[in-house]
Amino acid sequence: MNTKFKVIAFDADDTLFVNEPYFDEAEEKFCALLSDYLSKQSISQALFQTQITNLPLYGYGIKGYILSMVETAYSISNHTVSTKVMEKIIEIGKELLQKPIVLLDGIEETLQQLHQHYKLVVATKGDLKDQHRKLHLSGLGPFFHHIEVMSEKEELDYEKLLKRLEVEPHEFLMIGNSLKSDVLPVLNIGGTAVHVPFHTTWAHERIDHEIIHNHFYTAEKASDIIELLDL
Ligand SMILES: [Mg+2]
Repeated sequence: MNTKFKVIAFDADDTLFVNEPYFDEAEEKFCALLSDYLSKQSISQALFQTQITNLPLYGYGIKGYILSMVETAYSISNHTVSTKVMEKIIEIGKELLQKPIVLLDGIEETLQQLHQHYKLVVATKGDLKDQHRKLHLSGLGPFFHHIEVMSEKEELDYEKLLKRLEVEPHEFLMIGNSLKSDVLPVLNIGGTAVHVPFHTTWAHERIDHEIIHNHFYTAEKASDIIELLDL
């Protein structure tokens, strides 16, 4: 691997700390709340559909997720859902906003080592306040030079980020768990990407084809990045 990067960017959710399992848990609770109306699978599908439809309006993150749960509950109950259930849905959302921060294996040691050699940044989607909360509580903040909460992670968004950081694509390495958001757009603009898979991925972030590219790497765990960079 070319190791002359000026900036190494990390995704946050399911790259630095646990995220998707909390959403899975919330969805389980949501389905249980509405089990009088539909099967678990149908409720999940309806919620996913509402989320995708709402993404252009709400963006990513828990607050938009809460509104999508509310909307889905109204729709699948044909507007008969009780205020008690609505209250529980808001509660599920608030719980999500207060989940403990669980760092992924080896991430702290990896950042500790990398930040002595490279400028590190966080490039994440999600709610601004929630991402700042998580980074603050994670204790990882001091390793990072900059935290970018992006509304999308597409080519143009990365191009803007690189411009702001004053780096060229070949000087930029992105590390993350999503092939769709952390890998493909970065490769497409001429950057380098390392995929560190997490055991579960949101359906919206999955892609169904293999990536073959000479600036694309896979690491089983964060600490493997140290070796990839010959440190
Ligand atoms: Mg992620």
